[in-house]
Amino acid sequence: MAYKNLVDLHIHTDNSDDGFDPVSLMGEYAIKSNLVVAAITDHCECNRYKKDGFDKTIRQSFDISIAEKENLKDKIKLIAGMELGQAMQALPEAEDALAARDYDFVIGSLHNVAGEEDFWKVDYKTRDAGKLLHRYYDELLELLEWGKFDTLAHINYPLRYIIGVEHIDLNLAEYETQIDDVLKLVISKNKALEVNTSGLRQPYGKLIPDVDILSRFKELGGKYVTIGSDAHHYYDVGAGITEGLDAIKQAGFDEITYFENRTPVMLKIE
Ligand SMILES: [Zn+2]
Ligand SMILES: [Zn+2]
Repeated sequence: MAYKNLVDLHIHTDNSDDGFDPVSLMGEYAIKSNLVVAAITDHCECNRYKKDGFDKTIRQSFDISIAEKENLKDKIKLIAGMELGQAMQALPEAEDALAARDYDFVIGSLHNVAGEEDFWKVDYKTRDAGKLLHRYYDELLELLEWGKFDTLAHINYPLRYIIGVEHIDLNLAEYETQIDDVLKLVISKNKALEVNTSGLRQPYGKLIPDVDILSRFKELGGKYVTIGSDAHHYYDVGAGITEGLDAIKQAGFDEITYFENRTPVMLKIE
């Protein structure tokens, strides 16, 4: 259906190593896509913090986003956030990033398990995908125990590559208990669960997570759901949000959440 309250809470700009377009262009497209809230959440890969210049780019991203937030305030609510990756693999760096600016919103994510490449870069000929996936969910639990973020990003991130790209045949039932444990910890730690729509535009072809996991999250008592396109190009801002909201609604939620000043704000799905 068509929604009035469209939001996109996961957007990368040219202040991410894999982003392309400036904050101003992402903001312009957020307005064109009729979004009411948009969050700029550039990467901070803690395990590559200084080596790859994330210490500088996350500060730059925030400062530009705050200026743009003021510019666009009559047209859209822009949120200055950050996607904090692999915090547990470099805790001092994660703490430094969090203390650097007064973020509205922090996404917690895990793109690689400790000592391994990002899941998109793993050589699956020499690595056991199933074992890496078990380790991934274990490390999500550690990240949640630490808990210095607002929403847990793309819970099934590795499947985007293990299934979507590599077509490795895994028995996903083997991971259900671990996923349940992750969902339960999201809830007891009062965190939000992100619905990442990027999978819809990629070979994986599904929301991350899909409606089954969202329904389970609801059933277990989940309260906060955020949604984001994970756009790395201006033309992907707002992509898949309608489909994502359909799934969130189908799972039994009436509201989505965005964060301002690290505090949840509820927005009716309508
Ligand atoms: Zn991510
Ligand atoms: Zn991202």
